Amino acid sequence: PCTDFDMAYFNSYAHVGIHEEMIKDRARTETYRNAIMQHQSQIAGKVVVDVGCGTGILSIFCAQAGAKRVYAVDASYIAVQANEVIKANNLSDTIIVLHGRVEDVEIDEEVDVIISEWMGYMLLYESMLGSVIRARDRWLRPGGLILPSNATLYMAPVTHPDRYAESIDFWRNVYGIDMSAIMPLAKQCAFEEPSVETITGENVLTWPHVVKHVDCHTVTIQELESISTRFKFQSMMRAPLHGFAFWFDVEFNGPAPFPSQSDMSSSLMASSNGHATDSSQRKKRPNPNEALVLSTAPEDPPTHWQQTLIYFYDPIDVVQDQLIEGSLVLSQSKENARFMNIHLEYSSGGRSFVKESVMR
Ligand code: SAH
Repeated sequence: PCTDFDMAYFNSYAHVGIHEEMIKDRARTETYRNAIMQHQSQIAGKVVVDVGCGTGILSIFCAQAGAKRVYAVDASYIAVQANEVIKANNLSDTIIVLHGRVEDVEIDEEVDVIISEWMGYMLLYESMLGSVIRARDRWLRPGGLILPSNATLYMAPVTHPDRYAESIDFWRNVYGIDMSAIMPLAKQCAFEEPSVETITGENVLTWPHVVKHVDCHTVTIQELESISTRFKFQSMMRAPLHGFAFWFDVEFNGPAPFPSQSDMSSSLMASSNGHATDSSQRKKRPNPNEALVLSTAPEDPPTHWQQTLIYFYDPIDVVQDQLIEGSLVLSQSKENARFMNIHLEYSSGGRSFVKESVMR
């Protein structure tokens, strides 16, 4: 059933600003386009579903790659706009816009390819991956392609003295006045909930820990309801530890990197449909042996996802090689399935802490 929370969620995607932000994120949009072109032999002449098409951009890339038919599905009002764009680009014969939830719309054929940009902050926030799983289980033919094919969520301990100074230490001296009495409230307000911000590799104290790896071909909805992990880091330097950072990457790793018999026949089919690319375009295609990765790691170029930080209320001073260990549980909120509960336990230097937060 479509809840009020779903309505609010889909309404948020009716605004153009959110789509503008995503499209202007070149790391995101160009990696998707490259991935589509890299898998052109598996898209040309085939049937594609774009789960959450937004403005229709990924559907249009697939049409440009020679897809026979693309179902562009979105429950938000933006679908109406996508349809206008598709008409204006004379692609209405190829791209069919379905304005509704992936869970509710009907597609009367098996599909060869699912494409979707479903990733939220901390990968799983907004939990749209469930809708990709539904689309997969409803329509994808056995052996079909899912782009992206897998995703990994990472965490690592971070130091961020500047952020702490600007939000907390600031109150120590305000125009010469000692306002440190405000500090407990300032900590509460600044660090109660996870914050989305950009850090750099220099903030990170160790190699990351894999919180969750998702294979989009096999992951189940039940598996995503609650995710738990135990971590054990060894700080690579002496620094005040301010909290943990989270980021993710996704890979576009289709099966069969080399053209198989069926790919050959599909490209023949594509050429009979007039969609075959000329050889100059073929040469520009990225090397099919390189798995394309869209990374939101601190050491990589920034994206609109940035990183997600969970700060401690008080920093812990760690020395080189000091252990930082504990556990993490990410679970869907009972109050609103699109919210995420975060239960974090951590200890270092003989002291233990628990931090509960909700990402809403
Ligand atoms: N593919 C577009 C938009 C990605 S944003 C692009 O890459 O630019 C994700 C979109 O998925 C939003 O427009 C949202 O409305 C839609 N969406 C999320 N869950 C959905 C569902 N269950 N059914 C249909 N659309 C959904």
